[in-house]
Amino acid sequence: MSTMCEFCNQCPEMVKHLFCQCLALLPLWSLVEAATGVPTSFTNEEEMWHRMRHCTNPGSSRVQSRVVKIILPATLWAVWLNRNKKIFLGHRFYIENIWEDTVQLVTAWGCTLARARSVQLLGGAFTIDPG
Ligand SMILES: [Zn+2]
Repeated sequence: MSTMCEFCNQCPEMVKHLFCQCLALLPLWSLVEAATGVPTSFTNEEEMWHRMRHCTNPGSSRVQSRVVKIILPATLWAVWLNRNKKIFLGHRFYIENIWEDTVQLVTAWGCTLARARSVQLLGGAFTIDPG
């Protein structure tokens, strides 16, 4: 197995490179930035984690803030999934596929959080309705 980045094949695959610096993924981060208004150029992992935990958009609604807080981890997860699809399933790499996976994850996680929250608000145990 190659130790080079699966997306650009120009640099060793390290966390910092894969999630913060890979030039092949810049169009993906541009999509995230356009969708959220939150800058997505991270110089290192610490900055990325910090942004994920604390990012908010001035003037955005609570729902928008939630989406922003979900979209960064969803993007990272989609990058990881697509990296694995390329390595283990031989899939080709398209920014559009990673973005589509990101949007699906944001939708799924957002719905799960909304359901969990409504259960909590009703005073029930913290369980997630499978339906
Ligand atoms: Zn790369």
